[in-house]
Amino acid sequence: MNLPKRLLKTTKRIWSKIDPFSLQVRLTVGIAAFSAMGLSGVAIWMSWKMQQILVTSQKQNIEYLANRFPHDVEIYSDMVSVETGIQRAIDNLTTDKTILWVRNPSQLIVAQSHQLKIKSSSHLLTSKMEPSPQLYKLQGHYWVACGADLQVKSKNLGKVYIAKDITSEQIMFLSLIKTLAIASVFSIAVITLAIAIYIQKSLKPLHRISAIAKTISANDLGQARLDLERVPSEVKELAQTFETMLLRLSEAWEMQRQFVSNFSHELRTPLTIVSGYLQSTLRRGKNLTQQQQEALVIAVSETDRTIQLLKDLLDLARADNGKMHFNIESIILNKLVSEIVEMAIQYSNRIITVEATEEIIIAKADPDRLKQVLLNLIDNAVKYSESDRPVILKLDKQNEQAKIEIWDKGRGIPLAQQSRIFERFYRVDENRAKSIGGTGLGLSIVKTLVEGMGGNITVRSQPEKGSIFTVTLPGV
Ligand code: ADP
Repeated sequence: MNLPKRLLKTTKRIWSKIDPFSLQVRLTVGIAAFSAMGLSGVAIWMSWKMQQILVTSQKQNIEYLANRFPHDVEIYSDMVSVETGIQRAIDNLTTDKTILWVRNPSQLIVAQSHQLKIKSSSHLLTSKMEPSPQLYKLQGHYWVACGADLQVKSKNLGKVYIAKDITSEQIMFLSLIKTLAIASVFSIAVITLAIAIYIQKSLKPLHRISAIAKTISANDLGQARLDLERVPSEVKELAQTFETMLLRLSEAWEMQRQFVSNFSHELRTPLTIVSGYLQSTLRRGKNLTQQQQEALVIAVSETDRTIQLLKDLLDLARADNGKMHFNIESIILNKLVSEIVEMAIQYSNRIITVEATEEIIIAKADPDRLKQVLLNLIDNAVKYSESDRPVILKLDKQNEQAKIEIWDKGRGIPLAQQSRIFERFYRVDENRAKSIGGTGLGLSIVKTLVEGMGGNITVRSQPEKGSIFTVTLPGV
């Protein structure tokens, strides 16, 4: 790639990274604009002032010559004729750049500087020239000139015209202005760059606060420390306020966890009793009408669902509080998985098979918690697939880890939702899920339990083809 293309690409990349609404850009642009305005104001004022000084001094010079000329003519005409006196006075005052000429009242030139024959263009000024000196531009040349009445011994001799070529001074002045403009633009660019770097440095602590805030999870709200040293006092104050807010949030979070834990615990016992009574009434209620029996069945199922929800909530509250204990031991997975599958077949009345190698696979886990995990996953596989579809459990060993896969050929989960199904109360299709039952907490408990045992859970799924949940546990 050639240089201009590469430069264009780099500029584009930098440009795309600039956020026009960021404080950094706003401050930089604001300060740079004010500095530019200030600097260009000073530069313009300086140029104007220099021009004034240059032109005024030249005008004063011309004015002096215009005042002096009649006196010189008067002195010379005492010795020679008036015409010769005028010519002598002109010769006396003529220099390289200053030229004079005199026209009589009938506009005829009576005397002039010798250069005028060459610089005849100066005559073009005649019609414009005023009694007080002015600046004129003529054919690329700058002139300060005036045309004053010539009265000698109370006699009107016409008009004397005096012009000074100030082109070289003007060119010097213009190049000075150009240099001043370039210096101003350069200084503005340097100031803008310096301001941008300084502002970026000053805002760094804010970026650090936001980076730290991003890594704080609900569990370490109370321990979060921003530890910002040598930062501006405003940022320090913000960091302290932020820490206090985190502490208050942590207290509120703790209170909420405590509340959920107490609430689930207190409600579970009476609801279990209610469910027990409802079930025994249903068993013994041969004299109940069909409608009453159906109502009781619904009441039992809703009470059981609520009990399950409370149990799940209690489990999660315990995990959040760090009160969930795991009795980790070496388990022969082949045996445990077969037992669980037996149990699941009995209560689900479905085809559930185990595929495992001859090899004995041992994992380090809490047997009760692992049972809970697998039953939950099998329950989902059964719930979210048709009753004629099999559910398969595959056992394997992978890099010193034990791997259990739960396969189903059910409805599957769309890719976009696969990462969300482990969130609390998240259900893929809320309406459809309601008719199936469940609380939306199962998978978040499964994840908490698996991770609590040092393992990991992932999902692969395709809508209408099925899902594979993979649990990996530390092996031996
Ligand atoms: P629920 O009580 O709703 O089953 P879970 O936390 O166990 O709650 O599951 C969350 C959601 O993930 C379910 O509502 C369901 O939409 C989806 N899901 C879980 N397992 C499967 C599966 N094997 N096949 C299809 N969808 C599933």
